[in-house]
Amino acid sequence: MTAVLEVDELTKHFGGTAAVDGASFQAERGAITGLIGPNGAGKSTVVDLVSGLLRPDSGAVRFDGHSIHSLPMHMVSRRGLLRSFQVSREWPRFTVMENMLAAAIDQPRAAIWRAIFRPGPLRRAQERDAVRARVLLEEFGLMAMRDEVASTLSGGQKRLLEFARLLMPAPRMVLLDEPLAGVHPMMIDRVRDAILRMKARGVTVLMVEHNLGMVEQCCDTVYVMAFGRVVATGTMSELRTNELVQEAYLGTDD
Ligand code: ADP
Ligand code: MG
Repeated sequence: MTAVLEVDELTKHFGGTAAVDGASFQAERGAITGLIGPNGAGKSTVVDLVSGLLRPDSGAVRFDGHSIHSLPMHMVSRRGLLRSFQVSREWPRFTVMENMLAAAIDQPRAAIWRAIFRPGPLRRAQERDAVRARVLLEEFGLMAMRDEVASTLSGGQKRLLEFARLLMPAPRMVLLDEPLAGVHPMMIDRVRDAILRMKARGVTVLMVEHNLGMVEQCCDTVYVMAFGRVVATGTMSELRTNELVQEAYLGTDD
């Protein structure tokens, strides 16, 4: 059991409210870890903090043994830790394939520099990107849509495209915030299969999700958050009978 991501006593306040209030958890390499809890528990804020979108007030985040909690998001991405958003962020007027190729370019300025002075390596990199894009689109069942403009995709197809784009730079770990948001019930199984496929590729996954059936089918370990803290952990089936979990979801009197 090796934790690739270690989150220690993380806190983040917005004005007077503690959105995250001393949350600690780990994600094991190659596993799918779930983060569940009622609305407002602080789950999305944790994802924002881990991904470098927000800076914590205190606490630590280590990825592969290195502190990353003071790095901006593009530096965290460069270390191989990428995130999705609750609302998919594709380029609506680009085709599916163009979206894939755009996702491979994380350093546009460096790419232009290279294009001028070293056109050969750049062309080979672009060929590799095109091959990888096709493999991923095939894997996520989007190959037939490759020339469609992204805005015409359904919510579920957009989610699959988002996953495929996320894998373009070959991340070591991905953070998924509510992958089923905006996904039609008919597409749930495909989104689940796509997440399981990320794991099969060796990518470590941390996912926030409300659909507990989905969490049970995907996650090796689940952490329950309430009021900014982690209050319970276990497998989803263990947690279903855990009193702290019932309390977290039903609320307490104090
Ligand atoms: P969850 O994802 O578990 O539903 P969030 O992390 O989105 O919870 O929110 C945790 C708490 O922090 C909530 O009370 C929310 O209103 C508050 N919050 C989140 N983001 C902000 C923000 N940018 N400004 C002010 N309050 C915020
Ligand atoms: Mg949220």
